Amino acid sequence: MRRAFCVLAAVMNQQSYKVGNTMKTIKDLKEWKFKSSPSYAELPIDENPEYNVPMAVKNAVFSKVPTEPLVGTLHLVCASEDALRDLLDLDPVVADTEEFVNFVAGKYHPEGSLTVSHRYGGYQFGFWSDQLGDGRAHILGEYVNSKGEIWQPQLKGSGETPYSRFSDGRAVLRSSIREMVASEACHHLGIPTTRAAALVVSDDHKVWRDKMYTGAARQERAAIVMRLAPAWYRLGSIEILDKRKEPNTMKTLVDFIIKHHFPEIETSGEDKYVKWYTEIAHRNLNMVATWQGFGFTHGVLNTDNVSVLGLTIDYGPYGFIDYYNKHFVPNTSDDMGRYAFNKQPEIILWNLGKFAEALQPILNEDQKQKIKDVRSTLEDYVNKRVLSTYLRKLGLEEMLDGDQNLVDDVLQLMEQTMADFTGTFRQLAEVDNKDLLDKSVLESQWSLNKIREASRWEEWVKRYRQRLEKENVSEDVRRNRMLKVNPVYVPRNWILQEAIADAEKNNFEKVRFLLKVLRTPYDVDEEAEKRGYSSQPPSWSYGLKLSCSS
Ligand code: AMP
Ligand code: MG
Repeated sequence: MRRAFCVLAAVMNQQSYKVGNTMKTIKDLKEWKFKSSPSYAELPIDENPEYNVPMAVKNAVFSKVPTEPLVGTLHLVCASEDALRDLLDLDPVVADTEEFVNFVAGKYHPEGSLTVSHRYGGYQFGFWSDQLGDGRAHILGEYVNSKGEIWQPQLKGSGETPYSRFSDGRAVLRSSIREMVASEACHHLGIPTTRAAALVVSDDHKVWRDKMYTGAARQERAAIVMRLAPAWYRLGSIEILDKRKEPNTMKTLVDFIIKHHFPEIETSGEDKYVKWYTEIAHRNLNMVATWQGFGFTHGVLNTDNVSVLGLTIDYGPYGFIDYYNKHFVPNTSDDMGRYAFNKQPEIILWNLGKFAEALQPILNEDQKQKIKDVRSTLEDYVNKRVLSTYLRKLGLEEMLDGDQNLVDDVLQLMEQTMADFTGTFRQLAEVDNKDLLDKSVLESQWSLNKIREASRWEEWVKRYRQRLEKENVSEDVRRNRMLKVNPVYVPRNWILQEAIADAEKNNFEKVRFLLKVLRTPYDVDEEAEKRGYSSQPPSWSYGLKLSCSS
């Protein structure tokens, strides 16, 4: 059967890899194999025969679980041509084959596959939830690419596991599109993230969902996203082993993660755990600082949704801020605003505190003290990272006295005038500094045209100009720097919503176009401009709400 195919201009634009002296990408999926024994096979795996019965798993890091393939007529919604090519050495034309669709649908298992679901716990909205785990995800195997990088393809929405609790092991199309697009978009924006290779939907495989938790459940089509990461460990992977009093398994897992995923600290002897903790803390704090710079709000920052590798993981009811509001909460289920945009650094710090508590059983007294000392530096660390992110957005590289106020003030002016976050920074990069107080110039820039209405705009612009002079930043340099860090396009909710509405009718053009445009989010694209992707969001999109239903 011929499948829909979304890898645009793939053949024209192939990158290849070197094998000996020949350049090659794999065109036939049958030739593509996992590593014969994945590294995670060394870890304790529960060989539970009743794989789809919810249970409390003990003394294991994974459960061996077969996928439950999607049934019915399948469509490839889209594939990420660069993830396929650059991470999996696959020629993007592979996505046009039935085998590939079956691979993503959980039906075709390349040689070397060992399908497992991961056991983890987590603090959800501040409270310990005990065992969570991969309730609808399967790691398929481990692939070592031509650059020597390890990638673990994982299916999300691929059926029940011992961790499914009361749910069906499936994912629906709308949330799968959101995860697929955001994973790839964040990567190209420069946010550390898990990736997404492809997305498949079934016409016939239906599941019940109550989209806004209003009691109005309806049937939706099931979909599967193939995600990619070097590994899928979360803070909750360690926490569960503390709460369930399994220190030996914890030590095995931590030593394993360090050996395979943090080789640079493997040889640091006594201080290995301290260095590891510090590295995880810094990576996650660097990640959250990049989020702040793009107005990205994750939405559900429970400890099970925070990666040990410092990658953005588990895209659910996330949102990129349109008009600036520091209290922005994309998830309707988060009534208390625990995971509001401006609280994200603080929440990652809180999560890292819980993570430090979880590690205690494998630490000696000296290590405990050292980790405590590291923790006392983290707040300052993240505050500086966030500040330097914003300074870079303003074309500045140094950090001087008064800079925090300069940044806070421009954000406050944006908030007062409901100016757009992405639009304002981008337009600040596009408009010449000397014109920043020129009404006739600003009127043609929809977002600057809002912020200029603030009574303190003129004062701010004057301070900004003085600050640029202090660092001796020429106008050319300022704008060039800013154009590289202030994107034209981000996956705004309204754009996703339109793409999802069409995809529900099996028209995948918008999803594919969005993936293509977001591959170069700093470059103006003529067609994206026509579609209004960098224009003021339409008024209907202002009240858009998202829930955890997925
Ligand atoms: P999330 O909010 O997506 O991070 O998921 C929290 C927990 O619920 C994780 O353990 C998920 O695996 C599980 N979960 C979410 N949706 C489903 C589903 N449809 N079926 C089974 N488990 C699920
Ligand atoms: Mg999750």
